[in-house]
Amino acid sequence: MEIITTLEAVKARCKELKKQGKTIALVPTMGYLHEGHLSLIGKARELADIVVVSRFVNPTQFAPNEDLDAYPNDPNHDRNVTEKAGTDILFEPLASAMYAEDHGTWVEVPELAKVLCGVTRPIHFRGVCTVVTKLFNLIHPDFACFGEKDYQQLTIIRRMVRDLNVDVEIVGCPLVREEDGLAMSSRNAYLTKEERALVPHIRKGLLLLAEKAKQGETSAKNLQNFFAEYIKENIPAARIDYCSMVDKDNLESLETLKDKAVIAVAVYVGKARLLDNILISK
Ligand code: AMP
Repeated sequence: MEIITTLEAVKARCKELKKQGKTIALVPTMGYLHEGHLSLIGKARELADIVVVSRFVNPTQFAPNEDLDAYPNDPNHDRNVTEKAGTDILFEPLASAMYAEDHGTWVEVPELAKVLCGVTRPIHFRGVCTVVTKLFNLIHPDFACFGEKDYQQLTIIRRMVRDLNVDVEIVGCPLVREEDGLAMSSRNAYLTKEERALVPHIRKGLLLLAEKAKQGETSAKNLQNFFAEYIKENIPAARIDYCSMVDKDNLESLETLKDKAVIAVAVYVGKARLLDNILISK
């Protein structure tokens, strides 16, 4: 596995590989890799000749009060597991190289970025879209893999690529969970032992909502209330950021379940803000 740290080198290497007729699949990450990330690398491996993984904690997607400085980091672990998973190139740029001091160009999908996570994280998706565009421009991947764990992010990236005619196929990959159902996330490292024992209830709550929907409950309000009650009972110290029923393609808020919908949640537990989602149907 090649480890490349400069923008010039990754650009030149990917250009050369494309000249040789190789296809490239990109997996953008912020590091502290777990099985969820590795499943994306596995998918990328199936899709293309060359797998590029980027490992970059993107400062522009964090607000000043968020966890940029505390974000977990283990470069050696990441290098080992990416190599074992069949990565060809690990790209680890410096923030100072990615962003000029007077950087002032942004890519935004405001309609989709103002709901769900965008309410509490108003600049987050602008940072994500901008860094992903920069990675696309450096690497020119044929495929780029994103996890359904970050459902809003995946939807926004798809829309950005459609709207800007970016020549890349966005591949959504299933959410990978711990055995007890907790969605894998680098931020799970923030949980204390006691919190960790309780957080699988987020998934359990969502499964109960799916069951309620199957039994005929169609009101988003009722489902929301049910989730709030369930979390209050089972993770008393948790605070729900949102629990929303949305259209699976355009994230529009739905009051009534018609056919299928996604229920997306963000829940604060201790220092962590945990995301999860479920596709429900009648
Ligand atoms: P992150 O390093 O958290 O920015 O995530 C990098 C990529 O991995 C994103 O496309 C995430 O959606 C994806 N990802 C993170 N956790 C999971 C998971 N548990 N299952 C599937 N994909 C994931």
